[in-house]
Amino acid sequence: MASEKDAALAAVPNDNPTIFDKIIKKEIPSTVVYEDEKVLAFRDINPQAPIHIIIIPKVRDGLTGLSKAEERHVEILGSLLYVAKVIAKQEGLEDGYRIVINDGPSGCQSVYHIHVHLLGGRQMNWPPG
Ligand code: 5GP
Repeated sequence: MASEKDAALAAVPNDNPTIFDKIIKKEIPSTVVYEDEKVLAFRDINPQAPIHIIIIPKVRDGLTGLSKAEERHVEILGSLLYVAKVIAKQEGLEDGYRIVINDGPSGCQSVYHIHVHLLGGRQMNWPPG
Protein backbone atom coordinates (compact mmCIF):
# COMPACT_ATOMS: atom_id res chain seq x y z
CA MET A 1 0.00 0.00 0.00
CA ALA A 2 1.34 3.45 -0.91
CA SER A 3 2.42 5.60 2.01
CA GLU A 4 0.53 8.73 2.93
CA LYS A 5 3.43 10.72 1.47
CA ASP A 6 3.19 8.81 -1.83
CA ALA A 7 -0.56 9.43 -1.87
CA ALA A 8 0.02 13.13 -1.22
CA LEU A 9 2.62 13.44 -3.98
CA ALA A 10 0.34 11.59 -6.40
CA ALA A 11 -2.72 13.70 -5.56
CA VAL A 12 -3.49 16.47 -8.01
CA PRO A 13 -4.55 19.66 -6.27
CA ASN A 14 -7.86 20.53 -7.92
CA ASP A 15 -11.51 21.29 -7.29
CA ASN A 16 -12.87 17.89 -8.32
CA PRO A 17 -15.14 15.96 -5.96
CA THR A 18 -13.23 13.90 -3.41
CA ILE A 19 -13.81 10.77 -1.34
CA PHE A 20 -15.06 13.06 1.42
CA ASP A 21 -18.11 14.02 -0.71
CA LYS A 22 -19.10 10.36 -0.68
CA ILE A 23 -18.59 10.21 3.08
CA ILE A 24 -20.76 13.33 3.54
CA LYS A 25 -23.51 11.79 1.37
CA LYS A 26 -23.11 8.50 3.29
CA GLU A 27 -22.42 6.75 -0.02
CA ILE A 28 -19.44 5.08 1.63
CA PRO A 29 -19.37 4.11 5.28
CA SER A 30 -17.41 5.96 7.93
CA THR A 31 -17.45 6.04 11.70
CA VAL A 32 -18.98 9.42 12.43
CA VAL A 33 -18.11 10.85 15.83
CA TYR A 34 -19.68 14.31 15.43
CA GLU A 35 -22.14 15.95 13.07
CA ASP A 36 -23.99 19.25 12.97
CA GLU A 37 -25.46 21.26 10.11
CA LYS A 38 -22.05 22.50 8.91
CA VAL A 39 -19.41 20.08 10.17
CA LEU A 40 -18.84 16.34 9.96
CA ALA A 41 -16.17 14.36 11.83
CA PHE A 42 -15.26 10.72 11.36
CA ARG A 43 -12.46 8.32 12.25
CA ASP A 44 -9.53 8.20 9.84
CA ILE A 45 -9.38 4.97 7.84
CA ASN A 46 -5.60 4.81 8.34
CA PRO A 47 -5.08 6.06 11.90
CA GLN A 48 -1.72 7.50 12.89
CA ALA A 49 -2.57 7.50 16.60
CA PRO A 50 -5.02 5.60 18.82
CA ILE A 51 -7.45 8.44 18.19
CA HIS A 52 -7.33 9.97 14.73
CA ILE A 53 -10.35 11.92 13.58
CA ILE A 54 -10.94 13.94 10.43
CA ILE A 55 -13.06 17.09 10.76
CA ILE A 56 -14.47 18.65 7.60
CA PRO A 57 -16.94 21.27 6.44
CA LYS A 58 -19.98 19.64 4.80
CA VAL A 59 -19.85 22.30 2.08
CA ARG A 60 -16.37 22.80 0.67
CA ASP A 61 -17.09 26.22 -0.90
CA GLY A 62 -13.71 26.40 -2.65
CA LEU A 63 -11.78 25.35 0.44
CA THR A 64 -9.80 22.58 -1.18
CA GLY A 65 -7.07 23.44 1.31
CA LEU A 66 -6.16 26.10 3.85
CA SER A 67 -4.15 27.97 1.23
CA LYS A 68 -7.42 28.69 -0.61
CA ALA A 69 -9.00 30.35 2.44
CA GLU A 70 -10.71 33.69 1.91
CA GLU A 71 -12.36 36.04 4.35
CA ARG A 72 -15.76 34.39 3.86
CA HIS A 73 -14.32 31.18 5.29
CA VAL A 74 -13.36 32.63 8.66
CA GLU A 75 -16.49 31.32 10.40
CA ILE A 76 -16.22 27.75 9.12
CA LEU A 77 -12.48 27.67 9.86
CA GLY A 78 -13.25 28.69 13.44
CA SER A 79 -15.98 26.05 13.65
CA LEU A 80 -13.60 23.29 12.53
CA LEU A 81 -11.18 24.16 15.34
CA TYR A 82 -13.93 24.55 17.92
CA VAL A 83 -15.40 21.17 16.94
CA ALA A 84 -11.90 19.67 17.28
CA LYS A 85 -11.86 20.83 20.90
CA VAL A 86 -15.37 19.47 21.53
CA ILE A 87 -14.44 16.06 20.09
CA ALA A 88 -11.15 15.95 22.01
CA LYS A 89 -13.15 16.30 25.23
CA GLN A 90 -15.69 13.74 24.02
CA GLU A 91 -12.82 11.31 23.32
CA GLY A 92 -11.32 11.87 26.77
CA LEU A 93 -8.10 13.48 25.56
CA GLU A 94 -7.61 15.30 28.86
CA ASP A 95 -3.78 15.32 28.65
CA GLY A 96 -3.59 16.92 25.23
CA TYR A 97 -3.72 16.17 21.56
CA ARG A 98 -2.48 17.44 18.22
CA ILE A 99 -4.29 19.34 15.49
CA VAL A 100 -2.88 19.12 11.96
CA ILE A 101 -3.91 20.72 8.68
CA ASN A 102 -1.84 19.45 5.77
CA ASP A 103 -1.71 21.81 2.80
CA GLY A 104 -0.54 21.01 -0.71
CA PRO A 105 1.99 18.42 -1.91
CA SER A 106 4.80 19.62 0.37
CA GLY A 107 2.42 19.63 3.31
CA CYS A 108 1.46 16.00 2.56
CA GLN A 109 -2.16 16.75 1.64
CA SER A 110 -3.83 13.89 -0.23
CA VAL A 111 -7.52 14.84 -0.14
CA TYR A 112 -8.42 18.26 -1.55
CA HIS A 113 -11.34 19.05 0.75
CA ILE A 114 -10.01 21.00 3.72
CA HIS A 115 -9.82 18.91 6.87
CA VAL A 116 -8.46 19.10 10.36
CA HIS A 117 -6.74 16.03 11.78
CA LEU A 118 -7.29 15.45 15.50
CA LEU A 119 -4.66 13.05 16.82
CA GLY A 120 -4.35 11.78 20.35
CA GLY A 121 -4.05 8.87 22.72
CA ARG A 122 -0.26 8.69 22.57
CA GLN A 123 2.71 10.97 23.24
CA MET A 124 3.37 13.18 20.22
CA ASN A 125 6.88 14.07 19.10
CA TRP A 126 8.44 17.26 17.83
CA PRO A 127 9.58 18.06 15.21
CA PRO A 128 6.89 16.32 13.15
CA GLY A 129 7.94 14.28 10.14
P1 5GP B 1 -4.39 14.40 4.14
O1 5GP B 1 -3.25 13.49 3.80
O2 5GP B 1 -5.06 14.94 2.90
O3 5GP B 1 -4.04 15.46 5.13
O4 5GP B 1 -5.44 13.50 4.91
C1 5GP B 1 -6.39 12.71 4.29
C2 5GP B 1 -6.79 11.68 5.31
O5 5GP B 1 -7.99 11.06 4.88
C3 5GP B 1 -5.75 10.56 5.48
O6 5GP B 1 -5.32 10.51 6.82
C4 5GP B 1 -6.50 9.31 5.05
O7 5GP B 1 -6.17 8.17 5.82
C5 5GP B 1 -7.96 9.72 5.21
N1 5GP B 1 -8.85 9.02 4.31
C6 5GP B 1 -8.69 8.88 2.98
N2 5GP B 1 -9.71 8.18 2.45
C7 5GP B 1 -10.53 7.87 3.49
C8 5GP B 1 -11.76 7.16 3.57
O8 5GP B 1 -12.30 6.65 2.58
N3 5GP B 1 -12.33 7.05 4.80
C9 5GP B 1 -11.76 7.60 5.94
N4 5GP B 1 -12.41 7.42 7.07
N5 5GP B 1 -10.61 8.29 5.88
C10 5GP B 1 -9.99 8.42 4.67
